Amino acid sequence: MMMPALGQTHVRISRLDRTLITAVVLLSSVFPVELFSNTPPAPNGLDGQYSGKQGQVLVIKVKGEEQATEVKGTFLRRTIPFFREFRPGEPAGYIGLLGIDMQDDPGTYELAVEVKQGEQAKPLSFNVLVAKEMFAVEHLTLPKGKVDLDEKSVARWKAEQQVVQQALAENSRLKLWHSNFVEPVNGKRTGIFGSVRIMNGKPRNPHNGEDIGAPLGADVVASNDGVVRLTVDHVFSGKGVFIDHGLGFYTMYFHLSEVLVKDGDLVTAGQIIGKVGATGRATGPHLHWGVKLNGARVNPYSLLELPFKNGSTPAATVTTPTSEATPDPQAVPVKE
Ligand SMILES: [Zn+2]
Repeated sequence: MMMPALGQTHVRISRLDRTLITAVVLLSSVFPVELFSNTPPAPNGLDGQYSGKQGQVLVIKVKGEEQATEVKGTFLRRTIPFFREFRPGEPAGYIGLLGIDMQDDPGTYELAVEVKQGEQAKPLSFNVLVAKEMFAVEHLTLPKGKVDLDEKSVARWKAEQQVVQQALAENSRLKLWHSNFVEPVNGKRTGIFGSVRIMNGKPRNPHNGEDIGAPLGADVVASNDGVVRLTVDHVFSGKGVFIDHGLGFYTMYFHLSEVLVKDGDLVTAGQIIGKVGATGRATGPHLHWGVKLNGARVNPYSLLELPFKNGSTPAATVTTPTSEATPDPQAVPVKE
């Protein structure tokens, strides 16, 4: 039989264990790197600190009264072009939109910015803390043929990926978007951006956009000004439109029943570009809305929160040459 005193000690230890475990779990969600990495913490950014979650867009400001010839940043080997920004009551400067990819590992990384004035280049260094987003986990059961592709479909998918990568390889050097972004369709947001997908028991690539449920044939509009870079009818995405908003900013619209624009068309925010459908791999009518920002897959809804509501950003005066947007290294993406 256990002594009462020993029993109490045992209980206390269990409670302590529980408390410690809870504390570690809570802390690890706040300080994902510091607690579990063997590497020493990164030095503080000399010029500032930013933080955001996976899939978010950060607005980076660089002060500068004088006109630079070029301002660009590098973050996790992605190039971030900056553009001139004037705002009433704020110092003049440059803005860069930094997309945190939905699969960037949590941690602290450097954003190195170079401000060029003719021959002179001034380096700036920021620290960016990437925090983990708690994405949902989806369990889907689909007919086997819809999950495991036959060889022919895999070959088709690979060829289609090539087409998309080539079309998106060159970024427009002009900033075409302006003011606020708009939701492309009136519908029900499902909130599954970044969700981990388990299909028929096997883990698949996470969902790289947001699905918006809407009736078949509902209007789909461009979420900002841009140029139609590519229209497709692909095995997964179905009928789709890729819009280039300039400076490495792309939005994409999939599963359309009808595409009402063609490659090279200039579109404006709110312009109808197609109709909601269920083409490609889709279980019912909805719009898959995706965003690529300098190679990072970000939550489309983060665009609606960008602080450009008053249209104060003029057309870009400083842009970078072609951004080295890294091709998506993902294997077969699954887009429902
Ligand atoms: Zn989707």
